[in-house]
Amino acid sequence: MQSYETVIGLEVHAELLTDTKIFCGCSTEFGKKPNENVCPICLGMPGTLPVLNKNVLDLAVTAGLALNCEIAEFSKFDRKNYFYPDLPKAYQISQFDLPIARNGYIEVEVEGEKKKVRINRIHMEEDAGKLVHAAGGDSMVDFNRTGVALIEIVTEPDIRSPKEAKAYLEALKNILQYTEVSDCKMEEGSLRCDANVSIMPKGSDEFGTKTEVKNMNSFKAVEKALEYEVERQMEALEYGEEIVQETRRWDESKQVTISMRSKEEAHDYRYFPEPDLPPIVMKESELERIRANIPELPKEKKERFVSEYNLSDYDAGVLTSDKKIADYFDECAKKSENPKKPANWIMGDLLRVLNEENREIDEIKITSDMLVELCKLEEDGTISSKIAKEVFEEMYKNGDKPEEVVEKKGLKQISDQGEIEQFVEEVIEENPETIEDIRNGKDKAMGFLVGQVMKKSKGKANPQMVNDLLKEKI
Ligand SMILES: [Zn+2]
Repeated sequence: MQSYETVIGLEVHAELLTDTKIFCGCSTEFGKKPNENVCPICLGMPGTLPVLNKNVLDLAVTAGLALNCEIAEFSKFDRKNYFYPDLPKAYQISQFDLPIARNGYIEVEVEGEKKKVRINRIHMEEDAGKLVHAAGGDSMVDFNRTGVALIEIVTEPDIRSPKEAKAYLEALKNILQYTEVSDCKMEEGSLRCDANVSIMPKGSDEFGTKTEVKNMNSFKAVEKALEYEVERQMEALEYGEEIVQETRRWDESKQVTISMRSKEEAHDYRYFPEPDLPPIVMKESELERIRANIPELPKEKKERFVSEYNLSDYDAGVLTSDKKIADYFDECAKKSENPKKPANWIMGDLLRVLNEENREIDEIKITSDMLVELCKLEEDGTISSKIAKEVFEEMYKNGDKPEEVVEKKGLKQISDQGEIEQFVEEVIEENPETIEDIRNGKDKAMGFLVGQVMKKSKGKANPQMVNDLLKEKI
């Protein structure tokens, strides 16, 4: 079989984090009753006039700057004409030839290798409504989403594998969340992704015919859909079939892509300038104001965590892969004398329980103060690391402070020489054969004895003292 190279370009729609829609004052709140958040403007009634929400422009420019784009001094809105029941005006207000931002890039890392994915453009547009297909064949339409502000972020065909596509999306999502441009909740439709996929013989510089894949609802689905589509195109070429330029839909239940429409039926959008909205002229002072408000981005934060808190590149990467986690750790680290400790707790037990219960870090009862306190108790020997895990579970479940848990449950580590000595002597007496083994040089048996003493003390004996005392007495 010939070897092929994969070429992928992504188009991502991100819903902007605005309270109101792009051209009217209707709320953007998710989960409302159908058609609760509507007015004559977003319903497209004749005679109504759109007015651009200032916040939309700010967020689009913020995204542009954070994604290393050039911001257009002059841009405009256009009408994209097509008829579909979820689009009441029969045109969508979008940007065509003069988008707000161009020529950016994102740095992504796949399996230790860094690469730049170039961004062709970012434009602003309004969202369409949602068709609801009821049982019995009736179709209804919910216009709550109509007029919600979006940006579309279009890459150059720089992505070379489904893994790279996933890495790009994760990096993009992270930046949009850090800058609070979008909450990027894929399950609520605030981040949607379409992909252009083609393959070409390895070493060729001529792209193959591309297909567009839609309807992927998670990062995992994107990776799976792209893997399937690449495989499908390779097989088709091997059998001498031609790839047709078409739009395909990812079927999550069957794990296949299915043809939706071919190019012959493709729309001609007849774009023309939106006459009801003035062009956007970007003043240098405005641009500077927005630039000054861009917070620390994931890459900068990661570098700071390495230099300021002495974390490894890997640890800093894990801790900055989610803004809320990064902020939580940052708080802990500032209060802690040894930031590596809270880092380990977060990357270990904390992320584990969050993943298990599918929760976010700001939904749990363990505050940064509490976690730092737990680290202290462990470090100064008040509790052993084994007991610390028990305390952690209690804190997570009930929101009790670590000192309270230790006090209430009597978990304080035993560091009293006499008390430990007693346990040690009992264990030595009960295990004469093991003692014999150790005296004959079988050092490994020592661990067993330490374990026995810990058991007797219900995990509370200071392990270092147990070790020392055992050595002394054998
Ligand atoms: Zn409205």
